[in-house]
Amino acid sequence: MSKETASNARMARSDVSNARNALERYSRGATPRPLASAGGAGVDTLASFVESLMSGSIDVIDLTQPLSEATPMIQLPPPFANTPNWRTHEISHYDEKGPAWYWNWFEGGEHAGTHFDAPIHWITGKDRDDVAQVPVRRLVGPAVVIDKSREAQANPDYLLTMNDIRAFERQHGSLPEGCWLLYRTGWDTRANDQKAFLNANETGPHTPGIDIDLARWLASESPVVGVGVETVGTDAGAAHSFNPPFPCHQFLLGANKYGLTQLANLAKLPSTGAVLLVAPLKLVKGSGSPCRALALVQR
Ligand code: MN
Repeated sequence: MSKETASNARMARSDVSNARNALERYSRGATPRPLASAGGAGVDTLASFVESLMSGSIDVIDLTQPLSEATPMIQLPPPFANTPNWRTHEISHYDEKGPAWYWNWFEGGEHAGTHFDAPIHWITGKDRDDVAQVPVRRLVGPAVVIDKSREAQANPDYLLTMNDIRAFERQHGSLPEGCWLLYRTGWDTRANDQKAFLNANETGPHTPGIDIDLARWLASESPVVGVGVETVGTDAGAAHSFNPPFPCHQFLLGANKYGLTQLANLAKLPSTGAVLLVAPLKLVKGSGSPCRALALVQR
């Protein structure tokens, strides 16, 4: 070790011990908080829910992709502006900048990774809720899963249609009131590879989506509150050239409904019977937010 390095190391050690002393003084001022107690109506239902959670008869499935600097981002063609990649910056790591703590700050888009589209994201929903205004009651609800992974593997431009919904309903019953429609395409297996995930060539991106008539029906007539997909956005890769373009965004967000993208683990959900919980950040005036999406499943 050089003289200079040794002296730096000594200095760092003394900085760390000064900061530790400051932390101890700080923590002596802390007072414990009382635990909140449960009570009120519905406590029995919740108690049996907790029992099922503890016994494992209700399982919790993570529908969220990891969010990192490697997370694929949508790429719009010029002249449109794009979201930069997610970036994490270290503040301290148990060192002289914070002897007992590790933390980071990050920069990234509202529409990064597994994320929630609020109605205000689209011009048709410009007078509707931003992400902080979305009623939380609508962020918890029944989920139905339509699996078109075989079709999407054969045809990356596969579009879900009204006929697919009718066939699903014949087999599983009507879509439940206030449900989330989760559209499985197998695209989650590409989520750690930007090129495969966006699947673009000289004619643009080729990823599965929803056709115009179904998008219109989901928005205006169906009992669905939102649509969740495994791809980079709720609309098909080729939806830039649909008429109207981006029909899921246009119709669903315009109808005060929601989008949920880049989901994982839909293969672990039953076709019906799961409960979705989605938690976007309460970003004031936000058009959307990276989120944690979870599903509760009966075993
Ligand atoms: Mn989005």
